[in-house]
Amino acid sequence: RGGPKNLPIAEVFIGDDDTEETRAMKEKPRLVVLGGGWGGVALLKDLNPDEYHVTVISPTNYFLFTPMLPSATVGTLELRSLVEPIRRILHRCRGHFIRAQAEDVEFSHKLVEVSQQDVNGQEVRFYVPYDKLVIAVGSTTNPHGVKGLENAFFLKNVDDARKIRNRVIQNFELACLPTTSDEERKRLLSFVVSGGGPTGVEFAAELYDLLNEDLSRHFPRLLRNEISVHIIQSRSHILNTYDEAVSKYAEERFNRDQVDVLTNSRVKEVKEDKIIFSQKMEDGSVVTKELPTGFCLWSTGVSPTAFSITLAKKLGDAQTNRHALETDTHLRLNGAPLGDVYAIGDCSTVQNNVANHIITFLRTLAWKQGKDPETIQLHFSDWRYVAQDVRKRFPQASEHLKRLDKLFEEFDKDKSGTLDFGELRELLGQIDKKLTSLPATAQRAHQQGQYLAHKFNKMARLSQGLLANDVKDGDLDAAAYKAFEYHHLGSLAYIGNSAVFDLGEGWNISGGLWAVYTWRSVYFAQSVSFRTRMLMAMDWAKRGLFGRDLIS
Ligand code: FAD
Ligand code: MG
Ligand code: MG
Ligand code: MG
Ligand code: MG
Repeated sequence: RGGPKNLPIAEVFIGDDDTEETRAMKEKPRLVVLGGGWGGVALLKDLNPDEYHVTVISPTNYFLFTPMLPSATVGTLELRSLVEPIRRILHRCRGHFIRAQAEDVEFSHKLVEVSQQDVNGQEVRFYVPYDKLVIAVGSTTNPHGVKGLENAFFLKNVDDARKIRNRVIQNFELACLPTTSDEERKRLLSFVVSGGGPTGVEFAAELYDLLNEDLSRHFPRLLRNEISVHIIQSRSHILNTYDEAVSKYAEERFNRDQVDVLTNSRVKEVKEDKIIFSQKMEDGSVVTKELPTGFCLWSTGVSPTAFSITLAKKLGDAQTNRHALETDTHLRLNGAPLGDVYAIGDCSTVQNNVANHIITFLRTLAWKQGKDPETIQLHFSDWRYVAQDVRKRFPQASEHLKRLDKLFEEFDKDKSGTLDFGELRELLGQIDKKLTSLPATAQRAHQQGQYLAHKFNKMARLSQGLLANDVKDGDLDAAAYKAFEYHHLGSLAYIGNSAVFDLGEGWNISGGLWAVYTWRSVYFAQSVSFRTRMLMAMDWAKRGLFGRDLIS
Protein backbone atom coordinates (compact mmCIF):
# COMPACT_ATOMS: atom_id res chain seq x y z
CA ARG A 1 0.00 0.00 0.00
CA GLY A 2 1.00 3.60 -0.37
CA GLY A 3 0.60 6.86 -2.26
CA PRO A 4 -1.45 9.88 -1.15
CA LYS A 5 -4.60 7.78 -0.67
CA ASN A 6 -2.89 4.75 0.86
CA LEU A 7 -4.27 2.35 -1.71
CA PRO A 8 -2.83 -1.03 -2.67
CA ILE A 9 -0.04 -0.68 -5.24
CA ALA A 10 -0.09 -3.26 -7.99
CA GLU A 11 3.35 -4.66 -8.65
CA VAL A 12 2.03 -8.13 -9.21
CA PHE A 13 2.45 -8.37 -12.92
CA ILE A 14 5.97 -9.61 -12.92
CA GLY A 15 6.19 -13.15 -11.65
CA ASP A 16 8.25 -13.90 -8.55
CA ASP A 17 10.07 -16.76 -10.18
CA ASP A 18 13.70 -16.00 -10.68
CA THR A 19 14.03 -16.77 -14.36
CA GLU A 20 16.24 -14.74 -16.64
CA GLU A 21 13.21 -13.23 -18.33
CA THR A 22 11.46 -11.92 -15.22
CA ARG A 23 14.70 -10.49 -13.89
CA ALA A 24 15.26 -8.65 -17.18
CA MET A 25 11.66 -7.44 -17.12
CA LYS A 26 12.08 -5.93 -13.65
CA GLU A 27 14.89 -3.74 -14.84
CA LYS A 28 13.03 -2.23 -17.73
CA PRO A 29 11.21 1.10 -17.48
CA ARG A 30 7.51 0.63 -16.82
CA LEU A 31 5.39 2.00 -19.65
CA VAL A 32 1.70 2.28 -18.77
CA VAL A 33 -0.80 2.95 -21.58
CA LEU A 34 -4.32 4.10 -20.72
CA GLY A 35 -6.75 3.06 -23.45
CA GLY A 36 -6.66 0.39 -26.14
CA GLY A 37 -8.13 2.39 -29.02
CA TRP A 38 -6.51 3.83 -32.13
CA GLY A 39 -3.84 5.79 -30.28
CA GLY A 40 -2.87 3.12 -27.78
CA VAL A 41 -2.79 0.30 -30.31
CA ALA A 42 -0.73 2.23 -32.86
CA LEU A 43 1.83 2.72 -30.10
CA LEU A 44 1.84 -0.97 -29.14
CA LYS A 45 2.25 -2.11 -32.73
CA ASP A 46 5.43 -0.12 -33.36
CA LEU A 47 7.04 -0.35 -29.96
CA ASN A 48 10.27 -2.29 -29.78
CA PRO A 49 9.26 -5.35 -27.73
CA ASP A 50 12.44 -5.51 -25.67
CA GLU A 51 12.77 -2.03 -24.25
CA TYR A 52 9.83 -1.54 -21.90
CA HIS A 53 7.69 -3.37 -19.41
CA VAL A 54 4.30 -2.56 -20.93
CA THR A 55 0.95 -2.48 -19.12
CA VAL A 56 -2.30 -1.50 -20.83
CA ILE A 57 -5.24 -0.37 -18.70
CA SER A 58 -8.65 -0.11 -20.32
CA PRO A 59 -12.26 -0.98 -19.48
CA THR A 60 -12.64 -2.59 -22.93
CA ASN A 61 -10.47 -5.57 -23.74
CA TYR A 62 -10.66 -5.16 -27.50
CA PHE A 63 -9.55 -2.67 -30.12
CA LEU A 64 -12.42 -1.40 -32.24
CA PHE A 65 -12.06 -0.53 -35.91
CA THR A 66 -14.41 2.47 -35.64
CA PRO A 67 -14.53 3.60 -39.30
CA MET A 68 -16.50 0.49 -40.16
CA LEU A 69 -18.85 0.70 -37.18
CA PRO A 70 -21.70 2.34 -39.12
CA SER A 71 -21.68 -0.68 -41.47
CA ALA A 72 -22.13 -3.01 -38.53
CA THR A 73 -25.30 -1.27 -37.37
CA VAL A 74 -27.25 -2.60 -40.32
CA GLY A 75 -25.50 -5.91 -40.72
CA THR A 76 -23.30 -5.10 -43.71
CA LEU A 77 -20.43 -6.26 -41.53
CA GLU A 78 -20.43 -8.50 -38.48
CA LEU A 79 -19.37 -6.90 -35.22
CA ARG A 80 -16.73 -9.49 -34.47
CA SER A 81 -14.99 -8.59 -37.73
CA LEU A 82 -14.33 -5.12 -36.37
CA VAL A 83 -12.64 -5.98 -33.13
CA GLU A 84 -9.28 -7.36 -32.13
CA PRO A 85 -8.53 -8.56 -28.59
CA ILE A 86 -6.04 -6.29 -26.80
CA ARG A 87 -4.34 -9.28 -25.26
CA ARG A 88 -3.57 -10.62 -28.72
CA ILE A 89 -2.05 -7.29 -29.72
CA LEU A 90 -0.07 -7.12 -26.49
CA HIS A 91 1.44 -10.53 -27.00
CA ARG A 92 4.09 -9.07 -29.32
CA CYS A 93 5.62 -6.86 -26.65
CA ARG A 94 4.97 -9.34 -23.84
CA GLY A 95 2.83 -6.76 -22.08
CA HIS A 96 0.14 -7.03 -19.42
CA PHE A 97 -3.46 -6.02 -19.56
CA ILE A 98 -5.62 -4.77 -16.69
CA ARG A 99 -9.30 -4.45 -17.38
CA ALA A 100 -10.04 -1.36 -15.31
CA GLN A 101 -10.71 2.32 -15.61
CA ALA A 102 -8.20 5.07 -14.87
CA GLU A 103 -9.63 7.57 -12.39
CA ASP A 104 -6.78 9.88 -11.45
CA VAL A 105 -3.01 10.31 -11.67
CA GLU A 106 -0.63 11.21 -8.82
CA PHE A 107 1.99 12.92 -10.94
CA SER A 108 4.60 13.44 -8.22
CA HIS A 109 4.34 9.83 -7.04
CA LYS A 110 4.09 8.41 -10.57
CA LEU A 111 0.97 6.41 -9.76
CA VAL A 112 -2.23 5.91 -11.77
CA GLU A 113 -5.34 5.38 -9.66
CA VAL A 114 -7.64 2.82 -11.26
CA SER A 115 -11.03 1.38 -10.38
CA GLN A 116 -12.66 -1.93 -11.11
CA GLN A 117 -15.55 -3.98 -9.80
CA ASP A 118 -14.50 -7.05 -7.87
CA VAL A 119 -16.28 -10.41 -7.95
CA ASN A 120 -18.95 -9.15 -5.54
CA GLY A 121 -19.71 -6.13 -7.71
CA GLN A 122 -17.97 -3.82 -5.21
CA GLU A 123 -15.76 -1.07 -6.57
CA VAL A 124 -12.11 -1.56 -5.70
CA ARG A 125 -9.38 1.00 -6.25
CA PHE A 126 -5.65 0.58 -6.51
CA TYR A 127 -2.54 2.24 -7.88
CA VAL A 128 -0.44 1.19 -10.84
CA PRO A 129 3.08 2.66 -10.82
CA TYR A 130 4.70 3.95 -14.02
CA ASP A 131 7.92 5.40 -15.33
CA LYS A 132 6.24 6.61 -18.48
CA LEU A 133 2.51 7.13 -18.83
CA VAL A 134 0.59 7.47 -22.10
CA ILE A 135 -2.96 8.79 -21.89
CA ALA A 136 -5.06 7.65 -24.86
CA VAL A 137 -8.53 7.41 -23.35
CA GLY A 138 -10.44 8.91 -26.27
CA SER A 139 -13.62 10.92 -25.83
CA THR A 140 -17.31 10.61 -25.04
CA THR A 141 -20.41 11.72 -26.93
CA ASN A 142 -21.29 15.37 -26.52
CA PRO A 143 -24.77 15.72 -24.98
CA HIS A 144 -25.04 19.45 -25.77
CA GLY A 145 -27.36 19.74 -22.79
CA VAL A 146 -30.29 18.27 -24.72
CA LYS A 147 -33.25 16.71 -22.87
CA GLY A 148 -34.34 13.15 -23.34
CA LEU A 149 -31.10 11.61 -24.58
CA GLU A 150 -32.02 8.40 -22.78
CA ASN A 151 -34.38 7.93 -25.73
CA ALA A 152 -31.59 8.34 -28.26
CA PHE A 153 -29.01 5.88 -29.55
CA PHE A 154 -25.27 6.52 -29.71
CA LEU A 155 -22.62 5.03 -31.96
CA LYS A 156 -19.33 4.72 -30.16
CA ASN A 157 -18.73 1.07 -29.30
CA VAL A 158 -19.79 -2.48 -30.10
CA ASP A 159 -22.65 -2.40 -27.63
CA ASP A 160 -24.08 0.71 -29.23
CA ALA A 161 -23.96 -0.84 -32.69
CA ARG A 162 -25.69 -3.98 -31.43
CA LYS A 163 -28.46 -1.95 -29.80
CA ILE A 164 -29.02 0.05 -32.97
CA ARG A 165 -29.18 -3.06 -35.10
CA ASN A 166 -31.72 -4.65 -32.79
CA ARG A 167 -33.91 -1.56 -32.70
CA VAL A 168 -33.88 -1.10 -36.48
CA ILE A 169 -34.96 -4.69 -37.03
CA GLN A 170 -37.50 -4.54 -34.21
CA ASN A 171 -39.08 -1.48 -35.83
CA PHE A 172 -39.38 -3.31 -39.15
CA GLU A 173 -41.03 -6.28 -37.45
CA LEU A 174 -43.46 -4.08 -35.53
CA ALA A 175 -44.30 -2.13 -38.66
CA CYS A 176 -45.25 -5.39 -40.38
CA LEU A 177 -47.80 -6.46 -37.78
CA PRO A 178 -51.38 -6.44 -39.04
CA THR A 179 -52.45 -4.61 -35.87
CA THR A 180 -50.17 -1.65 -36.49
CA SER A 181 -51.99 1.45 -37.74
CA ASP A 182 -50.79 3.37 -40.81
CA GLU A 183 -49.74 6.32 -38.70
CA GLU A 184 -47.85 4.16 -36.23
CA ARG A 185 -46.14 2.32 -39.08
CA LYS A 186 -44.92 5.59 -40.57
CA ARG A 187 -43.54 6.63 -37.18
CA LEU A 188 -41.75 3.31 -36.66
CA LEU A 189 -40.17 3.66 -40.08
CA SER A 190 -39.06 7.26 -39.58
CA PHE A 191 -35.34 7.28 -38.75
CA VAL A 192 -33.73 10.46 -37.45
CA VAL A 193 -30.01 11.19 -37.33
CA SER A 194 -29.01 14.16 -35.23
CA GLY A 195 -25.65 15.48 -36.44
CA GLY A 196 -24.43 15.92 -40.01
CA GLY A 197 -20.81 14.92 -39.41
CA PRO A 198 -19.20 11.83 -40.96
CA THR A 199 -20.66 9.35 -38.45
CA GLY A 200 -24.23 10.58 -38.88
CA VAL A 201 -23.91 10.79 -42.64
CA GLU A 202 -22.43 7.31 -42.96
CA PHE A 203 -25.07 5.79 -40.75
CA ALA A 204 -27.81 7.42 -42.83
CA ALA A 205 -26.18 6.10 -45.99
CA GLU A 206 -25.85 2.57 -44.62
CA LEU A 207 -29.46 2.61 -43.52
CA TYR A 208 -30.52 3.83 -46.93
CA ASP A 209 -28.58 1.02 -48.63
CA LEU A 210 -30.22 -1.51 -46.38
CA LEU A 211 -33.67 -0.16 -47.20
CA ASN A 212 -32.99 -0.40 -50.90
CA GLU A 213 -31.04 -3.61 -51.12
CA ASP A 214 -32.61 -5.95 -48.62
CA LEU A 215 -35.92 -4.64 -47.47
CA SER A 216 -38.04 -5.64 -50.41
CA ARG A 217 -36.57 -9.10 -50.16
CA HIS A 218 -37.20 -9.59 -46.43
CA PHE A 219 -40.14 -7.31 -45.73
CA PRO A 220 -42.22 -7.26 -48.91
CA ARG A 221 -45.20 -5.87 -46.98
CA LEU A 222 -43.43 -2.59 -46.22
CA LEU A 223 -43.82 0.14 -48.80
CA ARG A 224 -40.79 2.18 -49.67
CA ASN A 225 -42.72 5.46 -49.44
CA GLU A 226 -43.63 4.76 -45.81
CA ILE A 227 -39.99 4.78 -44.82
CA SER A 228 -38.12 8.01 -44.21
CA VAL A 229 -34.58 8.95 -43.18
CA HIS A 230 -33.88 12.44 -41.80
CA ILE A 231 -30.63 14.18 -40.93
CA ILE A 232 -30.85 17.14 -38.57
CA GLN A 233 -27.82 19.41 -38.84
CA SER A 234 -27.19 22.61 -36.90
CA ARG A 235 -24.95 24.14 -39.57
CA SER A 236 -25.97 25.21 -43.03
CA HIS A 237 -24.33 22.17 -44.64
CA ILE A 238 -23.68 18.54 -43.78
CA LEU A 239 -20.05 17.35 -43.63
CA ASN A 240 -19.16 20.95 -42.92
CA THR A 241 -15.57 20.18 -41.94
CA TYR A 242 -14.97 18.78 -45.43
CA ASP A 243 -14.33 20.71 -48.60
CA GLU A 244 -17.35 22.57 -49.94
CA ALA A 245 -17.51 20.40 -53.07
CA VAL A 246 -17.67 17.27 -50.92
CA SER A 247 -20.50 18.49 -48.75
CA LYS A 248 -22.38 19.64 -51.85
CA TYR A 249 -21.94 16.24 -53.47
CA ALA A 250 -23.27 14.56 -50.34
CA GLU A 251 -26.28 16.84 -50.19
CA GLU A 252 -27.14 16.30 -53.85
CA ARG A 253 -26.76 12.59 -53.48
CA PHE A 254 -29.06 12.50 -50.45
CA ASN A 255 -31.50 14.75 -52.22
CA ARG A 256 -31.71 12.32 -55.11
CA ASP A 257 -32.05 9.37 -52.72
CA GLN A 258 -34.82 11.11 -50.79
CA VAL A 259 -32.88 11.31 -47.57
CA ASP A 260 -34.34 14.37 -45.89
CA VAL A 261 -31.58 16.83 -44.88
CA LEU A 262 -32.75 19.50 -42.42
CA THR A 263 -30.04 22.16 -42.08
CA ASN A 264 -29.85 25.12 -39.67
CA SER A 265 -31.79 22.95 -37.26
CA ARG A 266 -31.21 22.13 -33.63
CA VAL A 267 -32.71 19.25 -31.68
CA LYS A 268 -34.23 20.51 -28.44
CA GLU A 269 -35.67 17.35 -27.02
CA VAL A 270 -35.78 13.67 -27.85
CA LYS A 271 -39.05 12.03 -26.79
CA GLU A 272 -39.90 8.39 -27.03
CA ASP A 273 -42.03 8.87 -30.12
CA LYS A 274 -40.92 12.20 -31.55
CA ILE A 275 -38.13 14.74 -31.92
CA ILE A 276 -38.63 18.40 -31.13
CA PHE A 277 -36.30 20.72 -33.01
CA SER A 278 -35.99 24.34 -33.97
CA GLN A 279 -35.20 25.44 -37.51
CA LYS A 280 -33.89 28.77 -38.64
CA MET A 281 -35.78 29.82 -41.75
CA GLU A 282 -34.43 31.80 -44.67
CA ASP A 283 -36.04 35.03 -43.43
CA GLY A 284 -34.19 34.65 -40.13
CA SER A 285 -37.16 33.55 -38.06
CA VAL A 286 -36.90 30.44 -35.89
CA VAL A 287 -39.72 27.92 -35.85
CA THR A 288 -40.16 24.92 -33.59
CA LYS A 289 -41.08 21.69 -35.32
CA GLU A 290 -41.88 18.10 -34.43
CA LEU A 291 -40.96 14.92 -36.20
CA PRO A 292 -42.57 11.60 -35.25
CA THR A 293 -39.85 8.95 -35.06
CA GLY A 294 -39.16 5.40 -34.04
CA PHE A 295 -35.41 5.84 -33.83
CA CYS A 296 -32.98 8.69 -33.14
CA LEU A 297 -29.21 8.47 -33.49
CA TRP A 298 -27.28 11.08 -31.51
CA SER A 299 -23.94 11.87 -33.14
CA THR A 300 -23.14 15.51 -32.66
CA GLY A 301 -19.48 15.57 -31.80
CA VAL A 302 -17.29 14.62 -28.88
CA SER A 303 -16.41 15.89 -25.43
CA PRO A 304 -13.75 14.94 -22.87
CA THR A 305 -14.11 11.93 -20.55
CA ALA A 306 -14.50 12.38 -16.78
CA PHE A 307 -10.90 11.21 -16.36
CA SER A 308 -9.58 13.91 -18.74
CA ILE A 309 -11.59 16.55 -16.91
CA THR A 310 -10.16 15.41 -13.56
CA LEU A 311 -6.60 15.69 -14.88
CA ALA A 312 -7.15 19.07 -16.51
CA LYS A 313 -8.52 20.44 -13.23
CA LYS A 314 -5.63 19.02 -11.27
CA LEU A 315 -3.05 20.61 -13.57
CA GLY A 316 -4.72 24.00 -13.24
CA ASP A 317 -3.24 26.87 -15.24
CA ALA A 318 -1.10 24.58 -17.39
CA GLN A 319 -4.32 23.32 -19.02
CA THR A 320 -6.39 26.02 -20.68
CA ASN A 321 -8.37 24.10 -23.31
CA ARG A 322 -11.88 23.06 -22.32
CA HIS A 323 -12.12 20.40 -25.01
CA ALA A 324 -8.98 18.33 -24.56
CA LEU A 325 -5.76 17.78 -22.62
CA GLU A 326 -3.09 20.10 -23.95
CA THR A 327 0.36 18.84 -24.85
CA ASP A 328 3.49 20.45 -26.20
CA THR A 329 4.71 19.57 -29.68
CA HIS A 330 6.46 16.48 -28.27
CA LEU A 331 3.04 15.27 -27.04
CA ARG A 332 4.02 15.71 -23.39
CA LEU A 333 1.14 16.64 -21.14
CA ASN A 334 1.43 20.30 -20.20
CA GLY A 335 1.87 20.78 -16.47
CA ALA A 336 3.09 17.25 -15.71
CA PRO A 337 6.78 16.57 -14.92
CA LEU A 338 8.70 16.76 -18.22
CA GLY A 339 9.01 13.44 -20.03
CA ASP A 340 6.79 11.39 -17.67
CA VAL A 341 3.33 11.77 -19.13
CA TYR A 342 2.09 11.92 -22.72
CA ALA A 343 -1.38 12.33 -24.20
CA ILE A 344 -2.50 11.25 -27.68
CA GLY A 345 -5.64 10.83 -29.77
CA ASP A 346 -9.09 12.27 -29.21
CA CYS A 347 -8.44 13.11 -25.57
CA SER A 348 -5.59 15.45 -26.45
CA THR A 349 -4.67 18.49 -28.43
CA VAL A 350 -1.27 19.77 -29.49
CA GLN A 351 -0.90 23.44 -28.81
CA ASN A 352 -0.95 24.76 -32.31
CA ASN A 353 0.28 28.03 -33.43
CA VAL A 354 -0.94 28.79 -36.91
CA ALA A 355 0.08 32.42 -36.74
CA ASN A 356 3.67 31.60 -35.83
CA HIS A 357 3.93 28.96 -38.48
CA ILE A 358 2.68 31.27 -41.20
CA ILE A 359 4.80 34.13 -40.09
CA THR A 360 7.86 31.94 -40.37
CA PHE A 361 6.60 30.86 -43.78
CA LEU A 362 6.27 34.49 -44.87
CA ARG A 363 9.65 35.45 -43.49
CA THR A 364 11.21 32.70 -45.56
CA LEU A 365 9.25 33.82 -48.59
CA ALA A 366 10.30 37.43 -48.12
CA TRP A 367 13.87 36.43 -47.49
CA LYS A 368 13.96 34.43 -50.72
CA GLN A 369 12.71 37.47 -52.60
CA GLY A 370 15.20 39.68 -50.80
CA LYS A 371 12.48 41.69 -49.07
CA ASP A 372 11.77 42.79 -45.53
CA PRO A 373 8.80 40.74 -44.23
CA GLU A 374 7.35 43.77 -42.45
CA THR A 375 6.86 45.51 -45.77
CA ILE A 376 5.11 42.58 -47.44
CA GLN A 377 1.87 43.35 -49.27
CA LEU A 378 -0.20 40.29 -50.10
CA HIS A 379 -2.50 40.46 -53.10
CA PHE A 380 -5.49 38.17 -53.24
CA SER A 381 -3.63 35.65 -55.38
CA ASP A 382 -0.79 35.51 -52.81
CA TRP A 383 -3.28 35.13 -50.03
CA ARG A 384 -4.75 32.13 -51.81
CA TYR A 385 -1.29 30.59 -51.84
CA VAL A 386 -0.73 31.27 -48.14
CA ALA A 387 -4.17 29.88 -47.27
CA GLN A 388 -3.33 26.73 -49.20
CA ASP A 389 -0.27 26.26 -47.05
CA VAL A 390 -2.31 26.78 -43.87
CA ARG A 391 -4.83 24.19 -45.01
CA LYS A 392 -2.11 21.70 -45.74
CA ARG A 393 -0.48 22.09 -42.35
CA PHE A 394 -3.61 22.62 -40.32
CA PRO A 395 -6.48 20.77 -42.01
CA GLN A 396 -8.68 21.59 -39.05
CA ALA A 397 -8.41 25.23 -40.15
CA SER A 398 -10.13 24.44 -43.45
CA GLU A 399 -13.55 25.30 -42.14
CA HIS A 400 -12.40 28.74 -41.06
CA LEU A 401 -10.73 29.36 -44.39
CA LYS A 402 -13.69 28.57 -46.57
CA ARG A 403 -14.56 32.03 -47.84
CA LEU A 404 -11.13 33.26 -48.79
CA ASP A 405 -12.40 36.38 -50.52
CA LYS A 406 -14.57 37.36 -47.60
CA LEU A 407 -11.76 36.92 -45.11
CA PHE A 408 -9.48 38.97 -47.32
CA GLU A 409 -11.98 41.79 -47.52
CA GLU A 410 -12.73 41.72 -43.83
CA PHE A 411 -9.13 41.95 -42.73
CA ASP A 412 -8.01 44.42 -45.36
CA LYS A 413 -8.94 47.13 -42.92
CA ASP A 414 -7.53 50.03 -44.94
CA LYS A 415 -9.21 48.74 -48.12
CA SER A 416 -5.91 48.90 -50.00
CA GLY A 417 -6.60 45.71 -51.92
CA THR A 418 -3.64 44.06 -50.18
CA LEU A 419 -2.97 42.56 -46.76
CA ASP A 420 0.03 43.96 -44.99
CA PHE A 421 1.97 42.08 -42.35
CA GLY A 422 -0.11 43.41 -39.45
CA GLU A 423 -3.43 42.66 -41.14
CA LEU A 424 -2.35 39.14 -41.96
CA ARG A 425 -1.10 38.52 -38.44
CA GLU A 426 -4.47 39.57 -37.09
CA LEU A 427 -6.34 37.33 -39.51
CA LEU A 428 -4.27 34.30 -38.60
CA GLY A 429 -4.53 35.09 -34.92
CA GLN A 430 -8.30 34.94 -35.29
CA ILE A 431 -8.13 31.54 -36.93
CA ASP A 432 -5.74 30.36 -34.21
CA LYS A 433 -8.27 31.24 -31.55
CA LYS A 434 -11.04 29.37 -33.30
CA LEU A 435 -9.03 26.18 -33.68
CA THR A 436 -9.69 23.98 -30.71
CA SER A 437 -7.69 20.91 -31.57
CA LEU A 438 -6.43 18.60 -34.25
CA PRO A 439 -9.24 16.61 -35.87
CA ALA A 440 -10.68 13.88 -33.63
CA THR A 441 -9.90 11.11 -36.09
CA ALA A 442 -8.39 7.65 -36.12
CA GLN A 443 -5.90 9.01 -38.59
CA ARG A 444 -4.54 11.48 -36.06
CA ALA A 445 -4.57 9.09 -33.09
CA HIS A 446 -2.74 6.51 -35.21
CA GLN A 447 -0.03 8.98 -36.25
CA GLN A 448 0.48 10.10 -32.69
CA GLY A 449 0.72 6.55 -31.38
CA GLN A 450 3.28 5.70 -34.03
CA TYR A 451 5.21 8.84 -33.26
CA LEU A 452 5.47 7.93 -29.58
CA ALA A 453 6.52 4.36 -30.38
CA HIS A 454 9.37 5.53 -32.59
CA LYS A 455 10.39 8.10 -30.05
CA PHE A 456 10.30 5.66 -27.13
CA ASN A 457 12.36 3.17 -29.12
CA LYS A 458 14.93 5.84 -29.77
CA MET A 459 14.91 7.02 -26.17
CA ALA A 460 15.52 3.52 -24.90
CA ARG A 461 18.62 3.32 -27.06
CA LEU A 462 19.58 6.78 -25.90
CA SER A 463 19.39 5.84 -22.26
CA GLN A 464 21.77 2.97 -23.00
CA GLY A 465 24.33 5.66 -23.69
CA LEU A 466 24.43 5.40 -27.47
CA LEU A 467 23.32 8.98 -27.96
CA ALA A 468 23.94 10.39 -24.52
CA ASN A 469 26.20 13.14 -25.79
CA ASP A 470 23.33 14.89 -27.55
CA VAL A 471 21.23 15.49 -24.47
CA LYS A 472 20.84 19.09 -23.42
CA ASP A 473 19.08 20.29 -20.27
CA GLY A 474 17.82 16.79 -19.54
CA ASP A 475 15.26 17.20 -22.32
CA LEU A 476 15.56 13.67 -23.66
CA ASP A 477 12.49 13.96 -25.85
CA ALA A 478 13.78 16.90 -27.80
CA ALA A 479 17.27 15.43 -28.08
CA ALA A 480 16.05 12.03 -29.18
CA TYR A 481 13.34 12.89 -31.62
CA LYS A 482 11.75 15.62 -33.70
CA ALA A 483 8.48 17.30 -32.74
CA PHE A 484 5.21 15.71 -33.78
CA GLU A 485 3.89 16.86 -37.13
CA TYR A 486 0.46 15.88 -38.35
CA HIS A 487 0.10 14.76 -41.97
CA HIS A 488 -3.38 15.02 -43.31
CA LEU A 489 -4.06 12.09 -45.62
CA GLY A 490 -7.50 13.26 -46.55
CA SER A 491 -10.93 12.52 -45.19
CA LEU A 492 -13.43 10.10 -46.45
CA ALA A 493 -17.14 9.72 -46.18
CA TYR A 494 -19.34 6.93 -47.38
CA ILE A 495 -22.54 8.10 -49.01
CA GLY A 496 -24.87 5.47 -50.36
CA ASN A 497 -22.77 3.10 -52.42
CA SER A 498 -20.20 5.73 -53.22
CA ALA A 499 -17.45 7.48 -51.41
CA VAL A 500 -16.20 11.01 -51.40
CA PHE A 501 -12.64 11.81 -50.56
CA ASP A 502 -11.45 15.15 -49.41
CA LEU A 503 -7.73 15.15 -49.99
CA GLY A 504 -7.29 18.78 -49.04
CA GLU A 505 -6.17 21.59 -51.33
CA GLY A 506 -9.32 21.31 -53.36
CA TRP A 507 -8.69 17.74 -54.52
CA ASN A 508 -11.81 15.67 -54.34
CA ILE A 509 -12.64 12.32 -55.76
CA SER A 510 -15.87 10.48 -55.71
CA GLY A 511 -16.15 6.89 -56.72
CA GLY A 512 -18.08 3.68 -56.40
CA LEU A 513 -18.23 1.17 -53.62
CA TRP A 514 -14.95 -0.49 -54.59
CA ALA A 515 -13.29 2.84 -53.99
CA VAL A 516 -14.58 2.94 -50.44
CA TYR A 517 -13.01 -0.35 -49.54
CA THR A 518 -9.80 0.11 -51.48
CA TRP A 519 -9.25 3.48 -49.97
CA ARG A 520 -9.94 2.26 -46.49
CA SER A 521 -7.81 -0.80 -46.69
CA VAL A 522 -4.88 1.24 -47.93
CA TYR A 523 -5.53 4.01 -45.49
CA PHE A 524 -5.60 1.81 -42.42
CA ALA A 525 -3.53 -1.08 -43.70
CA GLN A 526 -1.08 -1.00 -40.86
CA SER A 527 -3.66 -0.92 -38.09
CA VAL A 528 -5.75 -3.82 -39.18
CA SER A 529 -4.56 -7.34 -38.73
CA PHE A 530 -4.74 -9.95 -41.45
CA ARG A 531 -7.44 -11.68 -39.43
CA THR A 532 -9.65 -8.59 -39.43
CA ARG A 533 -9.17 -8.02 -43.14
CA MET A 534 -10.11 -11.59 -43.88
CA LEU A 535 -13.23 -11.45 -41.73
CA MET A 536 -14.33 -8.24 -43.44
CA ALA A 537 -13.77 -9.69 -46.89
CA MET A 538 -15.87 -12.71 -45.92
CA ASP A 539 -18.66 -10.47 -44.62
CA TRP A 540 -18.73 -8.46 -47.82
CA ALA A 541 -18.76 -11.56 -49.96
CA LYS A 542 -21.57 -13.04 -47.88
CA ARG A 543 -23.63 -9.88 -48.15
CA GLY A 544 -23.08 -9.78 -51.90
CA LEU A 545 -24.29 -13.34 -52.27
CA PHE A 546 -27.07 -13.63 -49.71
CA GLY A 547 -27.88 -10.11 -48.54
CA ARG A 548 -27.77 -8.97 -44.94
CA ASP A 549 -28.93 -11.10 -42.02
CA LEU A 550 -31.89 -9.21 -40.66
CA ILE A 551 -32.23 -10.93 -37.31
CA SER A 552 -31.96 -9.57 -33.82
P1 FAD B 1 -10.40 5.51 -28.84
O1 FAD B 1 -10.08 4.77 -30.07
O2 FAD B 1 -11.79 5.91 -28.58
O3 FAD B 1 -9.88 4.64 -27.63
C1 FAD B 1 -10.06 5.00 -26.30
C2 FAD B 1 -9.75 3.82 -25.43
O4 FAD B 1 -9.65 4.25 -24.08
C3 FAD B 1 -10.83 2.75 -25.46
O5 FAD B 1 -10.20 1.49 -25.43
C4 FAD B 1 -11.58 3.00 -24.15
O6 FAD B 1 -12.22 1.86 -23.68
C5 FAD B 1 -10.45 3.43 -23.25
N1 FAD B 1 -10.83 4.24 -22.08
C6 FAD B 1 -11.83 5.14 -21.96
N2 FAD B 1 -11.82 5.68 -20.73
C7 FAD B 1 -10.79 5.13 -20.06
C8 FAD B 1 -10.26 5.28 -18.74
N3 FAD B 1 -10.80 6.14 -17.86
N4 FAD B 1 -9.19 4.54 -18.40
C9 FAD B 1 -8.63 3.67 -19.26
N5 FAD B 1 -9.09 3.49 -20.51
C10 FAD B 1 -10.16 4.22 -20.91
N6 FAD B 1 -11.84 8.40 -37.68
C11 FAD B 1 -11.28 8.40 -38.90
O7 FAD B 1 -10.14 8.86 -39.04
N7 FAD B 1 -11.93 7.90 -39.99
C12 FAD B 1 -13.17 7.37 -39.89
O8 FAD B 1 -13.74 6.92 -40.90
C13 FAD B 1 -13.80 7.35 -38.60
N8 FAD B 1 -15.05 6.83 -38.45
C14 FAD B 1 -15.60 6.77 -37.19
C15 FAD B 1 -16.85 6.17 -37.02
C16 FAD B 1 -17.43 6.06 -35.77
C17 FAD B 1 -18.77 5.40 -35.61
C18 FAD B 1 -16.74 6.57 -34.64
C19 FAD B 1 -17.35 6.47 -33.25
C20 FAD B 1 -15.50 7.19 -34.80
C21 FAD B 1 -14.92 7.29 -36.05
N9 FAD B 1 -13.66 7.88 -36.25
C22 FAD B 1 -13.09 7.89 -37.49
C23 FAD B 1 -12.97 8.54 -35.12
C24 FAD B 1 -11.96 7.62 -34.47
O9 FAD B 1 -12.56 6.41 -34.06
C25 FAD B 1 -11.39 8.28 -33.23
O10 FAD B 1 -10.84 9.51 -33.58
C26 FAD B 1 -10.30 7.39 -32.62
O11 FAD B 1 -10.89 6.24 -32.11
C27 FAD B 1 -9.53 8.11 -31.53
O12 FAD B 1 -8.58 7.23 -31.00
P2 FAD B 1 -8.22 7.26 -29.46
O13 FAD B 1 -7.15 6.24 -29.25
O14 FAD B 1 -7.96 8.63 -29.03
O15 FAD B 1 -9.56 6.84 -28.72
MG1 MG C 1 -6.37 4.77 -27.65
MG1 MG D 1 -11.19 2.50 -30.63
MG1 MG E 1 -7.03 9.43 -26.85
MG1 MG F 1 -4.49 46.45 -46.62
